[in-house]
Amino acid sequence: MAKNRIYLDWNATAPLLPAAREEMLRVLDMDGNPGSVHKEGRALKTEIEAARRAVASLVGASAAHVTFTGGATEAANLVLTPDFQMGRSALSVSHLYVSAIEHPALREGGRFPKTCVTEIPVLSSGVVDLSALEALLHAHDRSAGIPMVALMLANNETGIVQPVADAAKIVAAHGGLIVVDAVQATGRLPIAMADLGADFLILSSHKIGGPKGAGALVAKGEVLMPKPLIRGGGQEKGYRSGTENAAALAGFAAAALAAAADIDKRSVMMAEMRDRFEAGIRDAAPDVIIHGESSQRLSNTSFFSLPGLKSETGQIAFDIEGIALSAGAACSSGKVGESHVLSAMGFDPKLGALRMSLGSTTTLNEIDTATAIFAKIAGRRKPLGE
Ligand code: PLP
Repeated sequence: MAKNRIYLDWNATAPLLPAAREEMLRVLDMDGNPGSVHKEGRALKTEIEAARRAVASLVGASAAHVTFTGGATEAANLVLTPDFQMGRSALSVSHLYVSAIEHPALREGGRFPKTCVTEIPVLSSGVVDLSALEALLHAHDRSAGIPMVALMLANNETGIVQPVADAAKIVAAHGGLIVVDAVQATGRLPIAMADLGADFLILSSHKIGGPKGAGALVAKGEVLMPKPLIRGGGQEKGYRSGTENAAALAGFAAAALAAAADIDKRSVMMAEMRDRFEAGIRDAAPDVIIHGESSQRLSNTSFFSLPGLKSETGQIAFDIEGIALSAGAACSSGKVGESHVLSAMGFDPKLGALRMSLGSTTTLNEIDTATAIFAKIAGRRKPLGE
């Protein structure tokens, strides 16, 4: 990060951890193909299996149940499919119920036809509506197959934590499967896969300080697995073919080990900074709306709207002042789209919002600078209607 910049967009991606970089460089220099039986190949295989254990331990899973992918989006596309194998038998999933605030990686429905995807609404608090989920599953026609539910553990825009364990109980009672996107929660909340009741968890390396382009699908067991998305040489037990990116996985592992350590301590420090920021911006502009303020949120995230300030204008104004934050989710086009999360919570998406997300190296000084810049921007916004 350039010295004169303040990076407050950790939910888009976390800066690469020095330990992850070191591990990547070490493994990058190892020659050989992890699939080869000679010494060089076996050494790389050993690195991959060590990475698998590190990633599994971050979420309290068994290493044997971790399938590495090229990121969370790929993991989502692998698991969101009507076609599963349960031991030797095929298992059919006939419908996907996806929360209205999911990341597009899941909201797009993976390999399900659009007609087989239904949204689960959220309450104005930003929390998924469990009675609506219950009603949808109650009405599910089981003659064609079982239902699948996709629900994130924490939302990437608001940071609002979702009642995954309660949802999982409802899903299990209806004989369905639940896929949990834990991308934003990893390293920010302690995660025990069994306590969540998740059938599958989705993880991403770059949100926890590992490299971009690495992720994992973690399964509850070995028996039930989706039909492979990428076929070929049979790597990753046939669930994800292609020569493994061992260096990226070593970086992912280093980030996973760091993410698992001191979660509670980090969380308290982040909450202190986030609360200071929110108190500061409210002081500067009492009409600021802080989304999800009264819901359980990740301690690093603040998602706020300032009436009269468009997301794009706000984001550019902060950028010019040396601060990287974002207008909700990072959009591939670089444009600021309307937030489907705000719409799902019942707000006019045209209201616009900005997301400040901090991380382990953020300082109080940076937070105070961001607050002062907010006050400057708020002071020059146009009154509504002009
Ligand atoms: N899920 C959530 C909640 C995210 O925030 C993101 C990234 O923005 C993804 C999934 C996709 O992750 P990846 O970039 O590894 O494909």
